[in-house]
Amino acid sequence: MEIDKKKCVGCGNCHAICTMGVIYLDEDGKSAINQDECVECYTCYRVCRSEDYPPWFVRALRKVLSLFRLGYLAEVDVCPTGALTPPQLEWPRNLRALFSDPTTVHPGTGVSGRGTDEIKSNDVTGRLLKGEAGLVVEMGRPGTGAYFRDIEKVAMALAKLRPHFERENPVTQLMVDIETGKMKEEILNEKVMSAIIEIKINLERIPEFIQALERVQHKIDTVMSLGIASKCLPDGSIPHQEWVRKAGYTLSPNGKTNIGLGRPLFKED
Ligand code: SF4
Ligand code: SF4
Repeated sequence: MEIDKKKCVGCGNCHAICTMGVIYLDEDGKSAINQDECVECYTCYRVCRSEDYPPWFVRALRKVLSLFRLGYLAEVDVCPTGALTPPQLEWPRNLRALFSDPTTVHPGTGVSGRGTDEIKSNDVTGRLLKGEAGLVVEMGRPGTGAYFRDIEKVAMALAKLRPHFERENPVTQLMVDIETGKMKEEILNEKVMSAIIEIKINLERIPEFIQALERVQHKIDTVMSLGIASKCLPDGSIPHQEWVRKAGYTLSPNGKTNIGLGRPLFKED
């Protein structure tokens, strides 16, 4: 995102709305954006309606009011002069918007948001079969974000154990080598709000992969969370529970159970 300095009156309304906290007041009294840290989520632009007042008018009004120790306060969801300006994003910077702006659709998967249907919609996608576990590693979150250089570190740590990387996933599609998890060099310094690495393994290998994540967590400069899924057994039990316990963890009580009311693509015997 960019701010048109000719229009900005430094009201500060967009600062609180920025999902990454990267808009600041410059020394000229107008706002600016730290372009290294902006993830192009466009939240500021979508939330701040433009009143399209001429900047000279708002500046004059603020000056006059300040003489009486009064302020011109636009409503909190307003950019009085329409100064927020979405730029034309080129590769690889456009990746930021693809992973951070929920209104964009990933060209490689046709899915919006983080670009994957994920294992939680397994009743529709049929990605997981009996005896298999799906692992999703979500990296970054609002206020923190994640650079692809860190996403690559985690992908490479997992790749050493030879999992099956989900091909209908935009992070997998950015790898130059799916065997090593190596990602395209030119994207490593791009930052996104969050991204999901998605793999499939046999259930009994869960502890091995959790240990790999425990080792790599100290080498990354962001947060990550792990989701695990498997197909429930006919008696309602959760097959991956035992393997998660063996790795020294207990399942979160707020896990999701999908009861198959979607549109299954196939039925497993
Ligand atoms: S596009 Fe998103 S990260 Fe960038 S300045 Fe706007 S709200 Fe902040
Ligand atoms: S809301 Fe608009 S005028 Fe106010 S600081 Fe942000 S860009 Fe500038």
